[in-house]
Amino acid sequence: MKNAGIYLHIPFCLSRCSYCDFATGMYNEASAERYVLNLITEIESWREVEPPENVDTIYFGGGTPSLLTPPQLEALLKAVRERFTVSANSEITIEINPGSVTSDKLTAFREIGINRASFGAQTFDDHELARLGRSHSSNDTRQTFRHLRDAGFDNISLDLIAGLPGQTMAGWKRNLDEAFSLRPEHVSFYLLEVHQSTPLANHIKSGLQPQPDEDLAAEMYEAMLDRAVAEGYEHYEISNLCLPGRAARHNTKYWIAAPYYGFGCSAHSYDGGFRRWANERDLVRYSEMIEQDGKAIVQETLLTEADRQAEAVFLGLRMMQGLSFRDYEELFGADLRDQHESDLARFLEAGLIECNGDLLRLTRAGALLSNEVFAAFV
Ligand code: SF4
Repeated sequence: MKNAGIYLHIPFCLSRCSYCDFATGMYNEASAERYVLNLITEIESWREVEPPENVDTIYFGGGTPSLLTPPQLEALLKAVRERFTVSANSEITIEINPGSVTSDKLTAFREIGINRASFGAQTFDDHELARLGRSHSSNDTRQTFRHLRDAGFDNISLDLIAGLPGQTMAGWKRNLDEAFSLRPEHVSFYLLEVHQSTPLANHIKSGLQPQPDEDLAAEMYEAMLDRAVAEGYEHYEISNLCLPGRAARHNTKYWIAAPYYGFGCSAHSYDGGFRRWANERDLVRYSEMIEQDGKAIVQETLLTEADRQAEAVFLGLRMMQGLSFRDYEELFGADLRDQHESDLARFLEAGLIECNGDLLRLTRAGALLSNEVFAAFV
């Protein structure tokens, strides 16, 4: 069996970014303290899988988990270690927003065992940062990155978003220059998604900001890949690149059907087999449920064999190394080539996928149109 990952959702931020539709609210000390106690209660009373798989990754996501104090994060890690068997060489990641941490705090994070930072730079253009409602400047990004290195973080992932309203290719290339000059071990790259009912969606609707240009965003994706490969990065997942050996161990669990157990409001879990479940999204309601009976699960899905086959294809194809026909057959006793003969022929013909021996994988063009490819397998 594959080792499990633990996800801890910390739903607090200093301000609300205009494009954000995550389950997160404004930070204040009292709410954070109550929430941490509730998370610990949830971890202590968790009995969803018995015995659970051993754990080798822990991920503090959000929100802005770096707003929590080192003692709060340490208390959460202690609760996880008491409830689960956690490997000594676990990857322990925290998401950090530029300007949200002092260098002393980062040193304290390292001291409690956090060994990886996922760093939300998004763009190095101050006008774009302001338009997105981000709470930091590009100088904050450079400075926090230096502080991370000084504190001993030798595994840093940088997030960038392309396709912002009004963004030009020249501006995007300046972003790439800045990002790669920092030499992060890992880069996560997103194309902007405009979610209904976010302030950004309203700004675009009312003409305050231009409509994002999807074709230009696709060119930015290509430019990003060319630049990253030239810089020695491996493109290992549709949206993720890394220096050799630095793939995100936690996130990889989502793509290889490993178990992961999520805690906190809106957290999702998977037992590695046939069951997925999700917690209440609303923070207040989550807290009430935990205080009442120690759990806040509001949704559960039992996967059929067909669901698992579809997931194996569309999650497996996210990995650029490709999906093994042999592994698929061993797992499901069926040949993917027979099951999806016409879809595979269509996508091969369109240049969206390619076969290399036992491996089926997306081409670069396929990575950009991945949702169309995946839809055929669901
Ligand atoms: S920092 Fe992240 S989670 Fe917080 S509001 Fe901005 S996008 Fe959302």
